[in-house]
Amino acid sequence: MSEIKRCPNYKKCGGCQLQNMDYDRQLRFKQAQVVKLLGRFHRVSNIIGMENPTHYRNKVQAAFGQRGGQLISGVYQSSTHKIVPVDDCMIEDEIADKIIVTVRKLAQSFKLRAFNDTTMKGFLRHVLVKRGFKSGQVMVVLVTSGGDFPSQRSFVNALLGRHPEITTIVRNINEKHTSLVLGAKSQVLFGDGYIEEELCGKTFRISPKAFYQINPTQTQILYETAVDFAGLDGSQSVIDAYCGTGTIGIIMSDKAGSVMGVELNPDAVEDAKFNAKKNGVDNIKFYCADAGDFMVELAQRKRKVDVVITDPPRAGCSRDFLESVVALSPKKVVYISCNPVTLARDLGYITRKGYKVAKIQPVDMFPFTEHVECCVLLCKT
Ligand code: SAH
Repeated sequence: MSEIKRCPNYKKCGGCQLQNMDYDRQLRFKQAQVVKLLGRFHRVSNIIGMENPTHYRNKVQAAFGQRGGQLISGVYQSSTHKIVPVDDCMIEDEIADKIIVTVRKLAQSFKLRAFNDTTMKGFLRHVLVKRGFKSGQVMVVLVTSGGDFPSQRSFVNALLGRHPEITTIVRNINEKHTSLVLGAKSQVLFGDGYIEEELCGKTFRISPKAFYQINPTQTQILYETAVDFAGLDGSQSVIDAYCGTGTIGIIMSDKAGSVMGVELNPDAVEDAKFNAKKNGVDNIKFYCADAGDFMVELAQRKRKVDVVITDPPRAGCSRDFLESVVALSPKKVVYISCNPVTLARDLGYITRKGYKVAKIQPVDMFPFTEHVECCVLLCKT
């Protein structure tokens, strides 16, 4: 692979911990990390890397700050609240980065001030851009404090005039003193308020708050691996736990008898229901609940479950969840994890309870960062 130019913000930003390594070395580093943590369970297949590991992030956000009269936008310096100005980033979508620069320049000319969370004064807090890789649709979310949006219509028109590729603009209002980017209220300023994206032959709606994998190329590979590991023949009852917008369950639905998806975020569940309909899938149901509570209830009702797919956040699965998986006794568990440390902990538990690891496939979803994703197949012994 050709040499990649070092990022000038590498040290201050802290987002790309592995910038000092060329891509092949990054892959070897991640492989070794997975082998160290999971090698005792099974042989680890070779990590699947990217052909072109730059500009893969389809969700980009920037914080606004004020330096004198000048509006700045960028990322928080690692473990501080200081903004490092960033106009382009080697892992972020290039169109999204250009839109963010335009938003900042326009905001400056419209005399919008950055929000200051010490004084709780000012207007613009963050901008978030999500772009559909296949659909090309672009959503811009302007996160602001409350009150009137000065010259809102002219601002929106000016932004659309400069970036006709934008398909929807949403204002999100965050009035709290919080490190969370998005507040409770959203208001659609232009378009539908969401974008659609295609993955593995299915269409998905993505709304501002719902989780969506940030690297579409590798997500396809990850999902195809999960489908392959599940080994479905059209008859099985499947659980898609921590299902987000329902992507994995919907992709598997053609090959399953029935699917139940469970997810805590109500916006994501709404998207999931919409997505099932949109794709004409009628053997899937979504539940808005804590995955642990949901599984406990299924186990109490002694439901028949053949395959459990689980894709938890970095903290891994709760003990309740794992105990109930064991009680439900599915033939297969496919565990997708973005944190091999909690994955190792959870595999340790489940392999003591009558399951053995049959496959481990790392996938590089986050080049240049230290993060590594794994898909693991567990079978009942
Ligand atoms: N499988 C999805 C989402 C994975 S991310 C995809 O591939 O897109 C993890 C998801 O778990 C997020 O959508 C998050 O909202 C959800 N989540 C976090 N804690 C949860 C809990 N306790 N119960 C159910 N879902 C939870």
